[in-house]
Order: sequence, then structure tokens, then C-alpha cells
Amino acid sequence: MTIKGSCHCKATTFEVSEAPQTVTQCTCSFCSKRGSLWAYYVPSQFRLTSPPENVSFYRWGSITVKHGFCSTCGCGTFTETPDWSTGKPDFDNPKISVNSRLFDDFDLDKVEVVVIDGKNLWWGKQPAGELCRPRSCSAFRRISCYNANGRADLARLQRP
Ligand SMILES: [Zn+2]
Repeated sequence: MTIKGSCHCKATTFEVSEAPQTVTQCTCSFCSKRGSLWAYYVPSQFRLTSPPENVSFYRWGSITVKHGFCSTCGCGTFTETPDWSTGKPDFDNPKISVNSRLFDDFDLDKVEVVVIDGKNLWWGKQPAGELCRPRSCSAFRRISCYNANGRADLARLQRP
């Protein structure tokens, strides 16, 4: 099922090939300010249907991640990133993170939100089971932060 998305002014339009199973809310300093709910795709599942020059990119930190936004209306649209699931950037496996809030005619409320505690996962360790510190998810208890290799996992959080 193709889903179309657009920024507020429609200068950026795009399509993804399927609906997300989950969307991700991240507590890192960038995502919490941007307010995105991320849906992850591989590049072949994503198609920009508007002129590429309408998209501006913001980079910070490691600068390996390109955060796209509309040059006109400022909506955060999609992010081009290497795969980070091993904890290191894998440039052979590029990913597109789409801001699912920009999906048109799609009921986001029916999709599970996975909270990842980017603020602590990437900038400091916190053991499993502790209450989350970030303000945005203080109502949730961390289930796991690190896998057996001590690597940052997607932290699934549940209400205590
Ligand atoms: Zn726009």
C-alpha cells in the first residue's frame, strides 16, 4: 500500500511503499525538538516526488546523518542515514527515516509508538529497569537498553 506524504506547503512530496508497523519517538536533543515520529525504510521503498532542490539538510553531531526539511515551510520531512543498528554507521546500508506525521490520509493513531531513549542511549548509559529520565517519557519504565554485546538496543518502554 503506497502512502503519500507532504510538508505543509507541498513543496516536498513523497511516497513510501508500505505502511509502518511501528513508528519511533526518540528522546534525543534533535528529535525531541523536531517532534517527529519516525518510520524507517530502505531507499528503494521511498520516492521523493517533488524537486530535490526544495529540500534542505541539517547536520549536527557526527554529521553522517542528513536531516531533511522543507526550505519553504520548515517541516522536518525525512532523514538520510547510514544503518546504525550495530552502534556504528554502516554506509553500505543506507536508511531513510520518514517523518510519519507528514503522511496524508493515514491514521497514525493506529500505529504503535516505540520510544527510544536517544538522549541517554547515545550520550550516557542507564541500566535496564530504571525509570526513564527524559521528561518526555518519564511515565515509562525501560525494558532494555543494551543487548548482550553491551550495544544500544531499541529501548522498548512500558508503563510501570
Ligand atoms: Zn513546505
